[in-house]
Amino acid sequence: MAKSSNFIKHIIQNDVNQGKNDSKVITRFPPEPNGYLHLGHAKSICLNFGMAEEFNGPCHLRFDDTNPTNDYKKYMDAIASDVKWLGFDWGKNQFHASDYFDKLHAFAIDLIKQGKAFVCDLNAEEMRAYRGTLTEPGKESPYRNRSVEENLDLFERMTKGEFEEGQKVLRAKIDMASPNVNLRDPVIYRIRKTSHPRTGDKWCVYPMYDYTHCVSDALELITHSLCTLEFEDHRPLYDWCLDQLAVPCHPQQIEFARLNLNYTVMSKRKLVQLVNENHVQGWDDPRMPTISGVRRRGFPPEAIRLFCDRIGIGKKETVIDYSILEDCVREVLNEKALRRLAVLDPLKITITNFPDDPQEVQVPNHPQQPDLGKRPVLLGKEIYIERDDFMEEAPKDFFRLKPGGQVRLRYGYVIQCEDVIKNDQGEVVELKCTYFPETFAGKTPEGMKKVKGIIHWVSAQDSVAAEVRVYDRLFSVENPLADKDKDFLSFLNPDSLKVQKAARVEKALSQADSEQVFQFERLGYFCADKVEFSSDKPVFNRTVTLRDTWTKLK
Ligand code: ATP
Ligand code: MG
Repeated sequence: MAKSSNFIKHIIQNDVNQGKNDSKVITRFPPEPNGYLHLGHAKSICLNFGMAEEFNGPCHLRFDDTNPTNDYKKYMDAIASDVKWLGFDWGKNQFHASDYFDKLHAFAIDLIKQGKAFVCDLNAEEMRAYRGTLTEPGKESPYRNRSVEENLDLFERMTKGEFEEGQKVLRAKIDMASPNVNLRDPVIYRIRKTSHPRTGDKWCVYPMYDYTHCVSDALELITHSLCTLEFEDHRPLYDWCLDQLAVPCHPQQIEFARLNLNYTVMSKRKLVQLVNENHVQGWDDPRMPTISGVRRRGFPPEAIRLFCDRIGIGKKETVIDYSILEDCVREVLNEKALRRLAVLDPLKITITNFPDDPQEVQVPNHPQQPDLGKRPVLLGKEIYIERDDFMEEAPKDFFRLKPGGQVRLRYGYVIQCEDVIKNDQGEVVELKCTYFPETFAGKTPEGMKKVKGIIHWVSAQDSVAAEVRVYDRLFSVENPLADKDKDFLSFLNPDSLKVQKAARVEKALSQADSEQVFQFERLGYFCADKVEFSSDKPVFNRTVTLRDTWTKLK
C-alpha cells in the first residue's frame, strides 16, 4: 500500500536529514490499560508504528500504568493482542510506566534538591481555588517556600506512608502566574495507599501522568513523542520537566488531531458504560468501535490500516464519516472475499417440473477473479429464495418474483411462479414454480422475453441452517453526544442487531474457518463468528452491506 504523506512525516524526515538524534527514529504507543483499544487508538498505532517502520526504527508498546488499580491486568493482554492483530510488532520493546517508578522517584528528589519542587499541604479544594482561571493568575501556595531540607524530609515521609491520602502532594515549582494553567505548580506526586498490579505495596506515592510521560519517553530514548491535540497545552510542562532533569535525551512532542467518527462514541468512559450496563454484549460486540469489536464484525486489519492512511494526519479536529471506514472494508473484501450463496430469510420454492435428481452447477468463487476457481453447487427440486424477493402485490417496476411472473435464478434457470401457498394466518409459506430447461446459465431461447430480475437461492438439500446476525450502526444519530441535556444512550439504534435464526447457507459454508469473511451474493459481506461459529451451528455476522445505504438516507 502506498503510504500518504503528512506533516509529522515531514518533520521526522527533516530531523533525519539533519542528523538529529543520530538520524534515528524511535516512537511509542502509550495506552493506559483501562479499557479496550478503539479505532481512535488505531489511528495513533498506525501513525506511531508507521513512522517507525518508514524510518527503520522501533516503536515501543508502553503501558501507561501510572495509577494503582487492579483493573490494568485484565486489559493489557487484550491491548497487546489488538496491536498485533492490526499488523504491528514491537519486538522486545514492551514497557510499563511502572518500570520507571524508582527513577521517577529519584528524579523527583533531584527536583526538590534544585529547589524546583515542594511538598504542599493544601487540600484539593484549596488547590483549585489557588489555581486561578484562564483569565486570572493563580496564587502561590503558602507552602511554596519550604526549605529544600524540609521538602526532602516531608517527601521521604510521604514515601514511607506517614501521611494519609490527600494530606500532602509534591508539586513542581514553576509559575503560578503563567497564562498556561498546566505550569501553575502542577502536582507531580500524590499519596495513594493502594497496591499496584506490578509493584505491589512497594509504593504509597505515585507519579502523575504529565511528569511520568515525558520522563518515560526520555528514558526509552524516544525521538518523536506523537500525541493528540489535547496535549498541546501540556507540551510546555513536558519540556520543562525534561529541561530540569538529567535525562538521556529530550524527545520532541508533536500533536495531531484525534480521530472522531460519526454514529459512534469513542471515549473509553462511554465504551465502559455501554459494556457495564449491557447495552452491548461485551467489548468485542461487533457493533463496538473497539478493535476487538470491528475484528469480530469481520473488518480486516488491512482495511483499518487503509482507513487510517486515507483519513491522514492533520492538526484540525474533524469528524470522519463512518461510510469512509465501511468503504475501506468493502474495498479490501471485494478483492479477497470468496463469493457464496446464502438466504437470510428463506421462502421455500418447489420447482414442480424439475427432475428428482439434483443438477450440479459450477459456480465461480469470485466472478472477477477466475483464478479462484469454481465450486459445485446442487440445484434441486426444492430451493429457498429470499422472502423479500417475492411480492404478492408487486408494483410494475418490481423485477423479482410475483404471481405468474418470471425471474432468473443466479447461475441457473428462469422460473415462473404458478401458485402461492399460504398457511391459516394467510402468510405465504411456499411457492410452486416451473422452470424453463432451455434457459440455463443466462441463455434466453428464441421467442422468450428476456427476464430482467436475477435472484440468489440455495437448494434445500445442499444447504444448512445457520444463524446470521445482521449488524448495523450502533447509534442512529451522527453525534450521540451533541445534546448535553440528553443521555447518549437514548440515541442507540434499536435496529443495530437483527438475528436471522433460520437462515440457509451453502453447505460448504459450514466448513468455514473462524473469522473467514465471504461475500454472500447480493447481500453483503459476512464473517464466521470468531467465538460462536461451529460446523454444527454456523453463525455469521454481517460485516458490511455491498453498498452504502446510510448516506443517501440523509
Ligand atoms: P479515551 O479518550 O478514549 O479515554 P485515552 O486518550 O485516554 O482515550 P490512552 O490509552 O491514553 O487513551 O491513549 C493512548 C494513545 O492513543 C494516546 O497517545 C492517545 O493520544 C491516542 N488516542 C486516544 N484516542 C485517540 C483518538 N480518538 N484518535 C487518535 N489517537 C487517540
Ligand atoms: Mg488518556
